[in-house]
Amino acid sequence: MNDTFARDTVSRTWTAPVAFPESVPKKADVVIIGGGIIGVSTAWFLAKQGIRSVVCEKGHIAGEQSGRNWGWVRQQARDPREMPMIIESLRIWRGLEVEIGEEVGFTTAGCLFTARSEKDLEDFEAWLSVSRQFGLDTRIISGKELEAQVRGGPADWQGAIYTPSDGRAEPHKAAPAIARAAARLGATVLTGCAVRGVEREAGRVSAVVTEHGSIQTSAVLCAAGAWSSMFCRSIGISLPQLKVRGTVARTAPADVVLNGAVFDKRIGIRRRQDGGYTIAHGSVLDHSLTPSTLRHSLKFMRALKRELSVLRLSIGRDFIDEWRMPTRWALDQVSPFENQRVLSPEPNKKVLAELRVNLYETFPALAGVEIVESWAGMVETTPDVIPVIGEAETLPGFYIATGFSGHGFGIGPGAGKAVAGMLGGKDSGIELNEFRLGRFSDGSPIRPYTTI
Ligand SMILES: Cc1cc2nc3c(=O)[nH]c(=O)nc-3n(C[C@H](O)[C@H](O)[C@H](O)COP(=O)(O)OP(=O)(O)OC[C@H]3O[C@@H](n4cnc5c(N)ncnc54)[C@H](O)[C@@H]3O)c2cc1C
Repeated sequence: MNDTFARDTVSRTWTAPVAFPESVPKKADVVIIGGGIIGVSTAWFLAKQGIRSVVCEKGHIAGEQSGRNWGWVRQQARDPREMPMIIESLRIWRGLEVEIGEEVGFTTAGCLFTARSEKDLEDFEAWLSVSRQFGLDTRIISGKELEAQVRGGPADWQGAIYTPSDGRAEPHKAAPAIARAAARLGATVLTGCAVRGVEREAGRVSAVVTEHGSIQTSAVLCAAGAWSSMFCRSIGISLPQLKVRGTVARTAPADVVLNGAVFDKRIGIRRRQDGGYTIAHGSVLDHSLTPSTLRHSLKFMRALKRELSVLRLSIGRDFIDEWRMPTRWALDQVSPFENQRVLSPEPNKKVLAELRVNLYETFPALAGVEIVESWAGMVETTPDVIPVIGEAETLPGFYIATGFSGHGFGIGPGAGKAVAGMLGGKDSGIELNEFRLGRFSDGSPIRPYTTI
């Protein structure tokens, strides 16, 4: 079947059988837990510095968030603290296909958030000062200029904030291609290889224990996405992290109404390399309450308040599942990471139905276009909606790079460069102090600047 019309173009990234290694290396300079965009980008940059890493992924490369996201590579509306990293990331994306010799579907096609009210426009104006501070090309557009970017949008759009230099890429292609590039430069990339825990010697990390044996190392990077908090907790490190489910769909190839990525309160939509669109509801995130919600609620209060209008809260199975999940386990026994190789939430059917209506009503030119695939992913976030990057103060040699919220795909290559610099003692030019884990416990104010 033509790949464009296949029902699993995206989801085959995580539905194929997991490939298990026959053995693991005895030693590594760095062991990376997690084969998402953060883990593989770090491995690639480490390899470029001549540092040998082993990436241990329990399931598939890009099997969780990194293969399921919307594919937006945006600077627009970011927290100012992330700006240097995303600007560097876009620079890397622009040259990525040439440098690694593989397709990732990146193109500079702009990002646009539409305003349905004067208030929306005022909010956008406020971000223009951030844009100016970092020398971006962001501007407010309306009328004919808006129509030129998005054909046939609703009449009540008052205008939009638009950053032409933003881009888009194909999530199911990007992280796997970067992983192969890292491997060609000497990294070892293992799938079907859960890390159960770490071993210590003289108060610092000395090895990781995987389901296939131990790897001696003096540096471990936890880039475990939605699992990072649980992993850290099992070794005595508190990492506040919560998860929300996002439902996503893909259309068949259709008329060009836009070329980049457009966010409207009713729909988030991006043109795909295959001529279809990746779409999601603009204003719905599902959060199923869990013991973690209760444990971290105080720290998340400000972030949750900002999300109240889009969060659909529920309580049920997830609460019981997490309640029953062990928090510690013996390293010679099967761990929760092997028991759930791939975190694969069901798409929300109600949201999918609303999404279809929103798509057809917002873009009448797309009315009737077939939705050929749908999936869901768990977005993980921190109390201030920016990542945690740094060495754990209580365990020398244990580093963390996680909590990238709903915007870690675009920033992934830049984050990989910054993290590899931190691990290899090389100045990446990206300041990481704002991202230290200690900000959640040292009395620093928790300041979410953006939404998830
Ligand atoms: C629906 C949705 C839409 C999004 N849209 C965008 C967007 O448009 N633009 C954008 O920039 N970002 C977007 N994001 C966010 C982005 O996808 C994430 O921030 C980013 O992919 C995080 O990458 P990661 O490598 O940290 O985590 P992940 O991709 O989740 O990778 C972590 C990996 O670690 C593995 N792992 C965990 N524990 C272990 C263990 N013990 N042993 C071995 N392996 C382990 C997991 O299996 C997983 O594969 C979106 C996310 C979702 C879910």
